[in-house]
Amino acid sequence: MRLTVLGSNGTYPTPGNPASGYAVHTPTATVLLDLGPGVFVVSIAAGITPDAVVLTHVHPDHCADLFPLFSAIRFGHPHRWGLPVMVPAGLVDRVAVFLGAGDTHDLHRVFAFDEVAPGDQRRVGDLTIRFGAATHPVPALVVSVEDGRARLVYSGDTGPGGDLPAVAAGCDLLLCEATLQGTPGADRYPYHLYATEAGAIARVARAQRLLLTHLGPTLDPQVSVAEAVAAFDGPVDRAIPGMEVDL
Ligand SMILES: [Zn+2]
Ligand SMILES: [Zn+2]
Repeated sequence: MRLTVLGSNGTYPTPGNPASGYAVHTPTATVLLDLGPGVFVVSIAAGITPDAVVLTHVHPDHCADLFPLFSAIRFGHPHRWGLPVMVPAGLVDRVAVFLGAGDTHDLHRVFAFDEVAPGDQRRVGDLTIRFGAATHPVPALVVSVEDGRARLVYSGDTGPGGDLPAVAAGCDLLLCEATLQGTPGADRYPYHLYATEAGAIARVARAQRLLLTHLGPTLDPQVSVAEAVAAFDGPVDRAIPGMEVDL
């Protein structure tokens, strides 16, 4: 199983770094995790034809490129219609409103939306995908992907709590958001993680490796990595576009 980072910027894209998007490949399956702005073009450039897509939540930095993917499939991209797209509760309705799409609109034929809930499990080729609940202001998913040999866990956007620590237990790679830096205080924003918290979750979960992502674009990433290293004994790195991790 290989993870390819397509975009890793927190909250918005910058030149050379789209917002959140990752590809998980095996010899029989390719799954895209999130479609933040900029990810669609990068996925085309990388020759990626997904067998399925997972969108963790409805915030635009995680799903805005569903719209160019929709148009590309609808108007002639070689993707097949009926692409499975796994989503949390409420996302399809929000997307449909944006497009003014009723029940018979092509949106519902181009994509085979599959609303999943925490605890659900799906198969795509040789991949098993399981879902947990994130701590976020909208319904949001924590995602576990395994191929029978290795398992990666992606936090999506989450604050402390939720299912991330349990879902991450024993994983080979924790791809974890670290939007914030410094020491969380009583007035902390509850719906994102500090880098030190990402490290602590990796430590408690006994993850083999931690990959920080969704860093605030104005932050010094070396500070985020140092804060996570101080909280976790294992290898820590920062997700950057084009990075490939074999598991
Ligand atoms: Zn986000
Ligand atoms: Zn979010």
